This record gives sequence, structure tokens and C-alpha cells, in this order.
Amino acid sequence: MKKVAIDEASVKLKLSYNLSKVRRETYIVDDEDVFIFLTESDEESRIPVLHVEKLNGIGVERREEISVPERRSSVGVNVRKDDVLNEVCEMVHDGYDNDVNDCENVVGTEIVAVERPMERPVNSVEEEDEDDRIDYDDIHNIPRSVEVTPQVIEWDDGTGIEIGQEFCSREAVWELVNRAAKQEVFGVYTIKSDPLRLMLRCRQASKGCTWYLRVARTKKSHFWSVRVHRKMHTCSRSVETTSNSIQRGTPRLIASVLHCDYPGNLETPTPNNIMSIVRGRLGVHCSYSTALRGKMLHVSDVRGTPERSYTMLFSYLYMLEKVNPGTVTYVELEGEKKFKYLFIALGACIEGFRTMRKVIVVDATHLKTVYGGMLVIATAQDPNHHHYPLAFGIIDSENDVSWIWFLEKLKTVYSDVPGLVFISDRHQSIKKVVKTVYPNALHAACIWHLCQNMRDRVKIDKDGAAVKFRDCAHAYTESEFEKEFGHFTSLWPKAADFLVKVGFEKWSRCHFKGDKYNIDTSNSAESINGVFKKARKYHLLPMIDVMISKFSEWFNEHRQDSSSCPITAQVVPTVENILHIRCPIAAKLTVFELNSYNQEYNVIDLNSVSFLVDLKMKSCSCKCFDIDKIPCVHAMAAARHLARKEGRNANTTIYGLCSVYYLIESWALAYYRTLYVVPHESVWVLPAHIKELVAFPPEYTPKGPGRNQEKRFPSVGEARKRRINLEAWLQPEED
Ligand SMILES: [Zn+2]
Ligand SMILES: [Zn+2]
Repeated sequence: MKKVAIDEASVKLKLSYNLSKVRRETYIVDDEDVFIFLTESDEESRIPVLHVEKLNGIGVERREEISVPERRSSVGVNVRKDDVLNEVCEMVHDGYDNDVNDCENVVGTEIVAVERPMERPVNSVEEEDEDDRIDYDDIHNIPRSVEVTPQVIEWDDGTGIEIGQEFCSREAVWELVNRAAKQEVFGVYTIKSDPLRLMLRCRQASKGCTWYLRVARTKKSHFWSVRVHRKMHTCSRSVETTSNSIQRGTPRLIASVLHCDYPGNLETPTPNNIMSIVRGRLGVHCSYSTALRGKMLHVSDVRGTPERSYTMLFSYLYMLEKVNPGTVTYVELEGEKKFKYLFIALGACIEGFRTMRKVIVVDATHLKTVYGGMLVIATAQDPNHHHYPLAFGIIDSENDVSWIWFLEKLKTVYSDVPGLVFISDRHQSIKKVVKTVYPNALHAACIWHLCQNMRDRVKIDKDGAAVKFRDCAHAYTESEFEKEFGHFTSLWPKAADFLVKVGFEKWSRCHFKGDKYNIDTSNSAESINGVFKKARKYHLLPMIDVMISKFSEWFNEHRQDSSSCPITAQVVPTVENILHIRCPIAAKLTVFELNSYNQEYNVIDLNSVSFLVDLKMKSCSCKCFDIDKIPCVHAMAAARHLARKEGRNANTTIYGLCSVYYLIESWALAYYRTLYVVPHESVWVLPAHIKELVAFPPEYTPKGPGRNQEKRFPSVGEARKRRINLEAWLQPEED
């Protein structure tokens, strides 16, 4: 061979060879590659030709090609793929140039492939020279497949791994290999696995399969790079299929499948569906609990571990406030920075409540995570019967101290305006707290929950009792109520006794002293707790993420609804529909003017019952007008009479009789601002003082018998203690 004078300092050589025309070029990067080149031969036992390319100037020709074979780990809910890719690129450069970056701490860069054919001079001395010599022996021990089983057809392992490809961790390599192993049906056997190396071969290597993977990490770098990969299997799948290796899924395997199918998404199929997906895709069986654990692991990977949720809390809230101006958040810590309480009210909601009926529904539910606690949600009801989020937070349990904390924070954004009404389920515990914090506000019980508790006291015909109870609760006048409740008492005396003890003013519409409008918690589409049933199982930050995206979805939906109303419409659809039904009835009623100056009328209905209507006071003796703030048939008849007398357009008057809260204008105002979800943490820009703030997981007293027990107040008529039923939790969900 001719000797060529080469200055090693300024010239790089690119060595490669082609084993056959069909295969791609193989680059020689290190000693190992040289060894493979020397031992490699084609079908006719010919040694391939070595290509030598001379490149002038180190680094000039450095070519980097980055591909992301799979997007594992944290990819935020709303991050574009480009962003992730850019992020990945930057990380790779940083990590490579100064070797400081610990990739495992960086989300979104779990698996990165980098092709760097010119990175290492061929004559460089590898750090792990000794190890490599041992490896050569390993390779020698593997019989050459072409000699032993020439008739077997080669097949690809399906990993897509390339020489030089880099991984953030050994686990990432395992994840990829395991998934491919299940999918392509081959077995893997570990030759060596230590902090610097991972060497795998086919389980049927003794039968001649040469599949081999060697991934190693230099002491200086945190990346694991593929050094040797013989991707073709020559073994028999039939043998592997019936081998006694355990064909079971692990949570890690499930999570890796979910990473592929639902990158960055917290919402994944139910465990039952995951079980069949994994069975269909990989032919692997897994139990319900494995599927569930894999699902949880996926969530952890996307938004970090439960502990990380607390560490990142302040930074997250800072970003939340930044993207949603006007947002108010509070975090209460106790000894050694342990998380205690959290309060969040979004800016758009604080502003929107100004145009809403002043009725706040407070609901609380237990969180089903390792750290427990309670999720408290305060909502209003928009004029179209939809939940309108006001604030939410985390408290430890239902005791006075934590309720007072939450309500005091609530008061900083929703002040104690006259006429404010609170509706809550946990009536006993929250009642006195509302009185303390909001002295002007009135408190009512949640009809839906009260109905559930009432049913417990009924033995015969629970459904009949529930219907009758609602009739009583919804009665507009006291005389109507007396009649209904008298009937109820005769049928279900025990339940009636219970309802008397609760107090009529807490649940009966006509006895209530404040303005509750037609709001009661039983007429909204679904309970707010039902909406976030799944989210309660997530760690803190993923849960907040899910809640805010749901709120944002509602805002968008109702913003569209309000803008798609016909231009002539003046009140929200539900109210328009009520008026639409009442108009023809009102037209048939007889109206007598009592006082034209005060606009007082006597209206006789079709049953010859007379009602007193006062249009100026927006009142009718049927009380329907007074309570709902929507004109009743009598008021509409009176308005019609007035309009005909004065020759004006009757419609104008009728809309004018409705509360301003029902106007489309008010409705649209409540939703005009966009609710933004927190962007992926890769784009967070945080001031130093925020970065310093950390919280640690709470130390809530476990539920059940314990020191806190005496402080916990049961719901109205709550018959038994509610505890999380782990068995039930692990059962398939209804949807
Ligand atoms: Zn094999
Ligand atoms: Zn009326």
C-alpha cells in the first residue's frame, strides 16, 4: 500500500466501506469498527473495499444529522413538534461541546440520534481499551451465521437504531429494544450492563443468530451512543414465540407505547383499552393494574414525578400568571417549605364574574393521589346553565382552618358584595366559615346533594320522594310549598323531619332570603366534580393543566355560542326559549290596569286565578318573576297590555324586564378573554427569585381514624364516612 503523508492536526480522514450494493455505507469511527471491517465479508467471502476520503480542516466538514425516532418523555400539552426539535438540537450541541449538560435532567430529549462520522479520529485511543479487547473475544465466540445456517432468511430487528445514535440513558435504550423485541418477536440476553456499557445479544445466539447491540458511554459524556449494532436476526421466531420467557407487559413498556401514541398528551385510553392496544400491537398480555401503572408512568414522564410537581409549583404559577394577566395565585407552605394550601383564580374569570349572577357554588372532592388532599372548586353558573370557573385550590381536609384560608383568598378577588349567595354541599362545615369570611353573604344547600342525603332516609319509593322533594324545593310561593310539603310529610315523615332540621331557608326556593335566580346545582348539565373525576388522579401540575385546558375549552365554546346568536337576539338561548313558550299563553290572559302611573296590573289566568303584577318593581304575586328575574306569563301579559296602550314594540319591554345578567351582551363579556394554558417548560423564562422558590410534598394526615378526625364535619345528613375504595378505584371506569 502506498504511504501518504498526512498532517493529522489539520486533516481528517473519513473511512467507510460498502459490504454489498444493497446495504448503505458503513462508517469506521473507532477501533471496534475497524475490527468489524476486518472480520466482515460478503456472501462470497470477499473483504469489502475501504473508501478513504480526505477532509481538510477539522470541524469544517462536521456534519450533524438529527433525527428523533420517538418523542418520549415530557413534551408539553401544547408544544409544536418544531419547538421540541429545536430544543433537542440545542441540547445536543450544548451537551456535546462542553459535556456539562446532564441530559437526563432535560425533558424532551430522551432519545436523540446524532450522526457524527468525523467526531473521533480513527487512531485515537479509546478510554476503555481493555474492555474492548474483552468484547472482541465475545464477538469471536459467536459463530458466523452464514457458515452455520446459510438457509435462514435474515430479518431486521425493527429498532431503527443506527451506529452513532445517542441516547440519554440506558433505560431509553432498553425501552426501545424491549418494544422492538415484543413487536418483532425476538429475545434479548444481557452480556454486560454497567455504568459505562450495555451489551446485548440475541437469546438464540447459541443457535447462530448474530444480532448484537453495544451501547456505551464515555466517562466525560452523559450520552449513550451506539457503537456496534448488527441489526439482522437469523434466529427462528417460532422458537422465540414458544420460549418460556415471560411474555408480560411491564408498566415501563406500557408507558413507552403511550409515549409513541400520545406524545405529550395526558389523556390516554382507559386501562382496559390500553390492555387491548398492547395486546394487539405487541402481542403482550398485561394486567389491569399494570396498564394503570403504565398510564400513570406516562403522566409522570410527561409532567414529571409527583414530587417534581411541588418543586416546579412556583415556576408554573409564575408562568400561569404571565400568560393569563390578572391571575391571582396563593401558596401556603408550612415547616420546611412543605406544601399546605393552593389557590388559583384566573384573570379572565375574575373579570368575567362582573357580568354574572352573584351566586357562587363551592364544591370539594378528595384527590386520589399519593399525597391526598382536597380539590376545592368555586364556580358560578352562566345564564345558559353552564359552569363558569371562578377559582380552585387545594386544601388538606375539610376543617375550618383550611376552609377559612380558601375563602379568605377567594374574598381577595371576589369581594363580599351585597346579595352574594353561596351554595355548597358541605353545608355544616362551610356554613359558619362563610358567615365569618363573608358576613354579608347568604348560604344555601346544594339541592342535588341534599336530595341524595334525603333518599337515605326513605325506605319506600326513593325516586318518588326525590321528585316530590324537588317540587317542594322549586315551589315559588309559600302556599304552593305548604301544599307540596304537607303531601311529602304524609308519605315520608322521617325524611320530612330531616328536611325541617336542615331548615327550609337552606333549600326551599320560596323561603330563601337572597337572589338565587333559577340557579340550583341540580339543573347544570353535570356536576363539576364529575368533570374532573379523572384529573383527580393526576399529580398536582398535570391536574392543574387538565383543569385549565378544560376551562379554556369551555371559554372557547361559549364564546362561539354567544357570537353565533342571531343579531336580533337580545337574551341568552335558554331564556329566549322560556319567553318563546310563555308568549302564546300570555296572549290569552285578561289584564286589568290598576295603576297606570305605577304600572300595576291585575292579571287573570285561564283558571280564573288573579295575579298582581308590578312592572316597575319587576314583581308578580306568583313570585316566579321576582325570583328568576325572567318575566312570568302574567308579567308578559301586562307588558303586552302596556305596549298596545302606548303603541310601542312589546318585545322591547319584555327583554327590558329580564335581568341584565341574561343579556347576550353580558354573556359574551364573560367569555371574551382567552384562557391560556401554561406552555411547555422548555420555553419558560423565569426570573432568578422565582427559580429559587421551591415547595416540598405536603404531609397531610391520612384519612380515616386519626388526629384530625374530630375536626372533620360531615355533609348534611352524611350517613357514613366516605373513604377511598381502592378496589373500586382500580375497577374499569364507566366511560
Ligand atoms: Zn436473533
Ligand atoms: Zn306571575
